[in-house]
Amino acid sequence: MKICVLPGDGIGPEITAEAVRVLRALDLKLEMEEALLGGCAVDATGDPYPEATRKLARAADAVLLGAVGGPQYDALPREQRPERGLLGIRKDLGLFANLRPAVLYPELANASTLKPEVVAGLDILIIRELTGDIYFGQPRGIETRNGERVGINTMIYSESEIRRIGRVAFESARKRSKKVCSVDKMNVLECTQLWRDVMLEVARDYPDVELTHMLVDNAAMQLVRNPKQFDVMVTGNMFGDILSDAASMLTGSIGMLPSASLDEKNKGLYEPCHGSAPDIAGQGVANPLATILSAAMMLRHSFNDEAAAGRIERAVKKVLAQGLRTGDIYEPGMQRVGTRDMGDAVLAAL
Ligand code: NAD
Repeated sequence: MKICVLPGDGIGPEITAEAVRVLRALDLKLEMEEALLGGCAVDATGDPYPEATRKLARAADAVLLGAVGGPQYDALPREQRPERGLLGIRKDLGLFANLRPAVLYPELANASTLKPEVVAGLDILIIRELTGDIYFGQPRGIETRNGERVGINTMIYSESEIRRIGRVAFESARKRSKKVCSVDKMNVLECTQLWRDVMLEVARDYPDVELTHMLVDNAAMQLVRNPKQFDVMVTGNMFGDILSDAASMLTGSIGMLPSASLDEKNKGLYEPCHGSAPDIAGQGVANPLATILSAAMMLRHSFNDEAAAGRIERAVKKVLAQGLRTGDIYEPGMQRVGTRDMGDAVLAAL
């Protein structure tokens, strides 16, 4: 199994190094090769997604990514920005399904800004369509009409795009509590009326899974009112962008949250939900657990190795139970550790 490792910028190299150590410790037949993506790639080649990276990523069975970006790149032309590298690799590899679990470990219940009784035991999965919708729809742009500027974007989904993300949601729900909540805005947007119609059609193939629908404004409210009512939530690119960030913050600990972006054959790109954290880069204090948990998702989704994924997740739980905390999840009375120490502790727990 070939893994393309893209450490990226900021804390990216520090946190991916720990995830790579954990993967190596599992004694699986894994080949790992590193390449450049994001700002480091711009520095070296002028291109945030260089040809050599493209080749390696295409040939690999899965991609492990740290994070990209940093303030030093903010003034570059748009096509040279690190984020372009990220959008480029997602599009190039056809990664249409973004899976973001939001799990609150009981040990971290106080990290959330919500009351512990609202979030304790939270375990939801947000599935966001990643390659369609208003982010890619044409026509788009800013033009002058009747003497003033107007901004235009197009919300568009084909039924095949809706069907394939729907299937991912139902298949995922089958492995969990068998509930899918599809989020749309069908009362106002025709595009999402089609979304709802196609979800109902897909549901016929999954009689064992319960499908409900929710309008996006209500979904935003329910996520903070009673998030535990959800199991799998599936939605389009823009609604998913917003709702998945809200859901991730229910747990209060951005350094803990992994994600997977999958293509139709379960080749995937796995990365923490957080960014490159330039404010703490190079200090050895970043939390590597989101990246380590992303490696667990890789084993589960791309390599079908539930046992190895479970081993990593249990090791992380054990380390939290032992009271080890990086700065982002630190509470008085716990033992504050750095990136490398946290990696060492996960290795020991394995
Ligand atoms: P960020 O997620 O990088 O940081 C937000 C805050 O959380 C910071 O205070 C940071 O120190 C902290 N934090 C994040 N990850 C942490 C970790 N593992 N351990 C401890 N603390 C952690 O978001 P930002 O500051 O808005 O963005 C910084 C850069 O990252 C920007 O250039 C942005 O474009 C980029 N970014 C990249 C991705 C990605 O690569 N997928 C995602 C989001 C942002």
